Amino acid sequence: MRSIAVANQKGGVGKTTTSVNLAVALARAGRRVCLVDLDPQAHATLHAGVLPGSHPLSAFDVLVGGQSLAAATVAAGENLCVVPSHIDLSAVEMALAARSGRELILRQRIEADSRCNPASGTSEAFDYMVIDCPPSLGLLSLNAMAAVDEVLLPLQPHFLALHGLSKLLETIELVAEHVNPRLRLLGVVLCMYEAGTRLASEVGRDVQSFFASAGDKHPAWGSAQVFQTRVRRNIRLAEAPSFGQSIFDYAPESHGAADYAALAVEVDQAAAGLREPVRRVA
Ligand code: ADP
Ligand code: MG
Repeated sequence: MRSIAVANQKGGVGKTTTSVNLAVALARAGRRVCLVDLDPQAHATLHAGVLPGSHPLSAFDVLVGGQSLAAATVAAGENLCVVPSHIDLSAVEMALAARSGRELILRQRIEADSRCNPASGTSEAFDYMVIDCPPSLGLLSLNAMAAVDEVLLPLQPHFLALHGLSKLLETIELVAEHVNPRLRLLGVVLCMYEAGTRLASEVGRDVQSFFASAGDKHPAWGSAQVFQTRVRRNIRLAEAPSFGQSIFDYAPESHGAADYAALAVEVDQAAAGLREPVRRVA
């Protein structure tokens, strides 16, 4: 199973839109996908057509209540399952304050599922796990980064796009050094891209050269690719969540659907490169 956390501590950059539409695009391409919503706002849950609270268990019960990930998984379409969020997740830091190793719980749940059911545990049942992270670098994002192999970073191409990124990159590096040596920044996807504007193309180039120049010095995130696919600003992408539909169900002919389908192909193809040490991919 490939596991991807969609993370950026800034809000409103396209994390949830990317998590849901990438998950659905991969599912439509025949991959078995588990979408995990770790944002207490539960927007990914709603966007994927699952009503928060309609299922007895949520990600909160997995992290705090000792429930297995498999028990909290809800079917949400062909090849797609969702581990729903719940507003209770906003209290996870407090609920786990006294627990040691609290950043490793999600990872342990995934491993335990596979130990209990060697043929049908989480890692075996899915080709992809996509985790929608909240807009912070707190315990929920740490649990995601400790559990996955790859981070996907959505960025909005404005002139402060790289500002504040150092904290996220530092966190990826620390998690890779101390708890999850497999963790790598898979790449950057530019979201809400205004095709044809000078600013967008300049920021795109800046982001590319920033990662290219970090190269060998930062194996956990240097040499991350900037995906060729730019997700254009498209009103259909903003409308789809309120119908509980992915862009592929809501507006299959839109730019948004074309862009996320293209991104899914690129993400799927990036697997081969990632099996090599990051240094050699550069
Ligand atoms: P985050 O999860 O990082 O906070 P969201 O994915 O929720 O960001 O996106 C923030 C807002 O922008 C949402 O209202 C969403 O519908 C909208 N949005 C996201 N991507 C696009 C896009 N490419 N074009 C237009 N609106 C978008
Ligand atoms: Mg979000």
